[in-house]
Formats: sequence, C-alpha cells, structure tokens
Amino acid sequence: MNIRAQMSMVFHLDKCIGCHTCSISCKNIWTDRMGTEYMWWNNVETKPGTGYPTLWEDQDRYRGGWEVSNGKLRLKLQGKIGTFLNIFFNPYLPTIDDYYEPWTYRYEDLFNSPDSDDQPSARPISMITGKPIEIEAGPNWDDDLGGSPFYAEKDINLNVLTESEKHQLFQLERLVFFYLPRICNHCLNPGCVAACPARAIYKRGEDGIVLVNQEKCRGWRMCISGCPYKKVYYNWTTGKAEKCILCYPRLEAGQAPACFHSCVGRIRYSGVILYDADMIERVASAEPTQLVTAIRDIIKDPFDESVIASARKNGITDQVIKSAQESPVYRFLKVYKLALPLHPEFRTIPMLFYVPPLLPVISSLRGNSFELRDEFFPTAESLRIPIKYLSALLSAGNEKEVIEIYKKLIAVRIYKRSSSVGDISRMEMKKVMDEAGISTDEAEEIYKLTSLPTYADRFSIPSFMRERVIETLEQTDVRKTETGFGFIKKPKRGW
Ligand code: SF4
Ligand code: SF4
Repeated sequence: MNIRAQMSMVFHLDKCIGCHTCSISCKNIWTDRMGTEYMWWNNVETKPGTGYPTLWEDQDRYRGGWEVSNGKLRLKLQGKIGTFLNIFFNPYLPTIDDYYEPWTYRYEDLFNSPDSDDQPSARPISMITGKPIEIEAGPNWDDDLGGSPFYAEKDINLNVLTESEKHQLFQLERLVFFYLPRICNHCLNPGCVAACPARAIYKRGEDGIVLVNQEKCRGWRMCISGCPYKKVYYNWTTGKAEKCILCYPRLEAGQAPACFHSCVGRIRYSGVILYDADMIERVASAEPTQLVTAIRDIIKDPFDESVIASARKNGITDQVIKSAQESPVYRFLKVYKLALPLHPEFRTIPMLFYVPPLLPVISSLRGNSFELRDEFFPTAESLRIPIKYLSALLSAGNEKEVIEIYKKLIAVRIYKRSSSVGDISRMEMKKVMDEAGISTDEAEEIYKLTSLPTYADRFSIPSFMRERVIETLEQTDVRKTETGFGFIKKPKRGW
C-alpha cells in the first residue's frame, strides 16, 4: 500500500440551477488576461448537449484519454514516435470555432454616436482580430436548449439509445435537460501529464492538484489533446498551456476554491481523500463495467489503521488524515455510494464525482392538460431521463451503478415525505428503504448533507503545510517573490 492524499470534489447535480456564478468568479480571478479570453476553466453546460468545446466527449475526433490495447494501458493520442512526428502540427486539437471567438463591444459608440432618431448600439468586436463580428457561438450557447436539434440531439451520449427511445426523449411533454458544471478533474492518471513531451505538467505531491509549470511549457499543446475533458487551454499571448489550478493559493489559506465558495446552489463539496497509488494502473485498466467499482476501491478508509500508518510513512500529516476522515467526498463516494465519475471510460481516474440529477417525473398530455404519468415518486426505471443515457455519461455504460443510486435518492425522498407530511405509510416507506439498502439514520444524514449543509459540512480543507513542502524543494526567498498566477519576468519563447 502506498497511500497519498488528494483534494477531490463532488457536485450534486440536482442542486445546480445553471446560474453560471461559478464560471464568472473563476473568470474574474484567473482568466481575465490577454490570451485567455476564450478560456473557461469552469464552465456549465446543458445536457443533453454538445458542450464546450463542441463535442468534447468525442474521442474519435480528439483522441483524449487512455485505452487498453493488448492488455496494456496506453495513451489514445499517440506514442513517442507519434509525438515526435506531430510535434509541429498536432492534428487532434479543437479550433477556436469549437470554443468560440471571444468578443467585446465597442462601448464608445454609445457615447460618440451622432444625434439620431434611433438608440445607438455597441457593435460586437472580436477580441482576437479587433474587427466587428457576427456573434454565432459562446461558451454556453446551448443554455437550456434541452430539445434543440442543433445541440441536444447531437449529444454523443445519445448514441446508446435506439431511434424510438431518442424520439420519445424529444417529445414536447418529455423534454428534459440538466446542468453539468465542469472543471479540471485533477485526475489520478491524468492524460494531460502523460501527453506532455516537455514534462511541464505535474501532479503536486501534497494534494494531487495538476499544474502546468509555465517556465517549462513549450506550447506543444499535446496536453490539450491528451485531456479527454478538454480542460487544458492554450494562451496565445504567452504561448503556454493553462488550466484550472483548483485555486491552490486559496486552498493553502484554508479557503474553498472560488467556484465552490460562490456556488449559489451549494452543489459543490470538497475534501481530501486517501488513495493507494500502487493501484492506479490496475484501476485504469479495469473492464468498463468494473471501472466505477475499481475507482471506489482505490479510495481507502481514512479510519483504517494500516491506511493511516502508510499515510504517515509517506509524510502525510495528522491534520490531513483528520481532514480525510471528515471529508464529505468520502461520505458521498464510499459511505453512501451516491456519486459517480464523469466518463470513467476515459481511464484518467477523475477526482470529481457527480450525484446524478433526480429530475421531475414524467407527465403526459391528457385532453388539454398535463397530468403526472406515474405516481408522484417515480421508480428508477420511470425517470424522465433514460438510465442508459446517464450510464453513458457517468458509469461507462454500467446501468446497475446508476439504478442503485436512484433507488437511494428516491428512498430518501420517500422517507422525508413519510416523516414530514405523513401521507406515505411506514410500511411502504420501509419497503422502499430496504430495497435501496439504506437505514433511516443514513437517509437522515444524506438529507442533511444534501439539503442543509453548512460551509463546514461542504468543505474539509486541511493546512497543506506548503511552507514545509517548499523548504524541501527550493529556496524560500525565491518563492517569496512569486505571487498568484502569472509571471514576474515574462517567459521567453523557445523558438
Ligand atoms: Fe489533466 Fe484533463 Fe484530468 Fe485535468 S481533467 S487532470 S487537465 S486529464
Ligand atoms: Fe450550478 Fe453552482 Fe455554478 Fe450556479 S454557481 S451554475 S448552482 S455549479
């Protein structure tokens, strides 16, 4: 056993209201510089939909993540020879049109226009060329367009449905969408790190945050292709790659990342987990149906004496171990088994997990009015969004994993209805709870952690003793001159 600590995260999709506050707080702090205009380290997409950048999940097009070939785990992108041949032209990159052309407005037109009968308007101007543009796309252009033929119907996860299932999904009374907020997953087996020929991307030892060394980066952009989630971006001013840094300067000060802190729906939870680094290759190579179980298995019980001993041996402090014991992520993922990784079949072992959305029940048109089709509480099989679709998104096609979670989520709803409104008998409630395999105590805890969590319940952030870590690596007076993200001295291009 080789225990390491990792900052990991849970997003509860039922609570996301699609307000984009998270994206804006991130943008204001980290990507309001020249060269970063099109970057959204945090973005919120509507699902079903094509996302940002367009069709990022299509790995036939982008070749991100890993595959098992002849029993061996290898990057889907290319091997060493492929890297060498493609180094001056990487064919598997999204173009600016796949993101969107960033723009601003010519605000001075509002003040300088001559007198006229019409109100002046500010023309949109491309932030890349400085010329007027017609706006045709944006990072959340498909917002709320759950039934759109341009966006929703092109969602690649719908390929697992039959034509008739797809047709039913897009019936007006069945239309459905939910929000999927995305940041870098700070994976345990990151494709971006493995793809970088300059070894500029690394995983920080003490908390597993994946960072790009701006001095080492040569701008080859293999990391952008290697990341199947398309969460590395290219800064066209500095010629370097950039990505979500999980607000590590905030974490080091005991604060939650800005997108977590500002989240209006309070959907975001974060905390340390302890994992066994010796298992990474085995977990990443698991059969698709076993991937979710394997990812759960790599995360170890922070109360187990042998885990604690191995953690201490690796220099993990007691503060971090205590924080792992209090982590809401551990509870969602291992204790209640309610959260799933996004596209585990990309095999990067993502450390951001999602509680799937318990969408409204299906109603159908009877005469002139809509009526509930089933009882008020659906079964896992009668949910508005097909289990097959959710399992393509969150469990590498393993429908059982998704059904088990829905049984629990529905059981918690029925339990609360029974105890607070009283129109469901105790016998009926017990039957559902037994089927879902949860006790009333657990249902109460899940309810509290979902609906009434305080800041302390949502975030368990230890002191990472950065000063101690830095002392082992470099001179502290060098570090003293560096603050935040960016450069004290502008880096020289390598060509
Ligand atoms: Fe790297 Fe992408 Fe994983 Fe982030 S999500 S660690 S950028 S592979
Ligand atoms: Fe969803 Fe929270 Fe972001 Fe709003 S701030 S879009 S609720 S994740």
